[in-house]
Amino acid sequence: MSELSAAKRIVIKVGSALLVGPDGAAHGEWLADFAADVARLRVRGQQVLVVSSGAVALGRRRLGLGKRLSLPEKQAAAAAGQSALMRAWEVALEPHGLACAQILLTRDDTEVRRRWLNARATLDTLLGLGVIPVINENDTVVTEEIRVGDNDRLSARVAQLVGAEALILLSDVEGLYTADPRNDQTATLIPRIQHLTPAFDAMAGGANASAGVGTGGMATKLAAARIAAAAGCATVITLGTRPSPLLAVEQGAKATVIEPSTTPAAAYKAWIAGSLSPAGVLTVDAGAAAAVRRGKSLLAAGVTDVDGHFDKGDAVVIRDEAGVEIARGLIRYVDDHARKICGLKSAAIEPALGYTSGPMVHADDLALAAHAQTA
Ligand code: GLU
Repeated sequence: MSELSAAKRIVIKVGSALLVGPDGAAHGEWLADFAADVARLRVRGQQVLVVSSGAVALGRRRLGLGKRLSLPEKQAAAAAGQSALMRAWEVALEPHGLACAQILLTRDDTEVRRRWLNARATLDTLLGLGVIPVINENDTVVTEEIRVGDNDRLSARVAQLVGAEALILLSDVEGLYTADPRNDQTATLIPRIQHLTPAFDAMAGGANASAGVGTGGMATKLAAARIAAAAGCATVITLGTRPSPLLAVEQGAKATVIEPSTTPAAAYKAWIAGSLSPAGVLTVDAGAAAAVRRGKSLLAAGVTDVDGHFDKGDAVVIRDEAGVEIARGLIRYVDDHARKICGLKSAAIEPALGYTSGPMVHADDLALAAHAQTA
């Protein structure tokens, strides 16, 4: 299947049912096999992020807690289990020369722009260093209001955050069925979904509701797929219990693929253009306006005026000297610093500020106004 083999960045969600054995201990054998599967992708040059559940399940055993937990007990179990979870990942990945890094996120980290940029920068750096980020929700500190709640959705948010092309939801089900295959002989697996219409949700909500022993059933998997599709990322729901599940799915094992509705780059630009309220305005000279229209970064040298109060990472409007909006983008400097370097050549930024963050707005973080695209 090309979604997996062609993706540069892949997020793989591993559920508790795969990671934690019936005795409540980490499933070392499964992890060892899966690590070899991941190493194969790394050798091909693909970047892999793992979203791993299992903290609560492992912590429960470590702390001698029963099945039903109060919220504080659950958070204590997550704290105790998270380190056991990371140890299990380290033991599995090390023989392949792969380092992993723990990332614990809350919903705000994927929604509040400044934290989002920060999380993205850290993940980019880790991936650039060849490390496998192992991500979980920061269960120990989250309250109901700020929880993502399940790792299916968290993994989709992570895919969106890093601009992944593929999200693999490894589960204890083979994919989405038209009906519950356990009691309906006519149930068939849906191999590919182009548009996730409510008809599919109806299938997930009914017959497949109990699929997945972890927090999320099939409905949350489809909710995750919907987030991923809008972010330009394909979702693959497949069985994680078979040996080398990633290789298996590449070789045609049963799965449900939900196709993306855009590309990650286009989704990111649409987000900049549409969903952010700009905090400032940059006015640029004719040369810079032409460069921006051609898809280049906006350099400080071409900025003639800076207006508004903003922080690094905030959205700003870029206008030409006639006051016409030509683009929106995420600025790399806080307002005071942007004012200081306005009109300066790139080499003069560091002497002026004591540091440089490069262009005022990087080309990757710029979305052209609709009329400017055809100009
Ligand atoms: N964050 C939870 C844990 O690590 C799991 C949530 C889920 O599986 O959806 O135990």
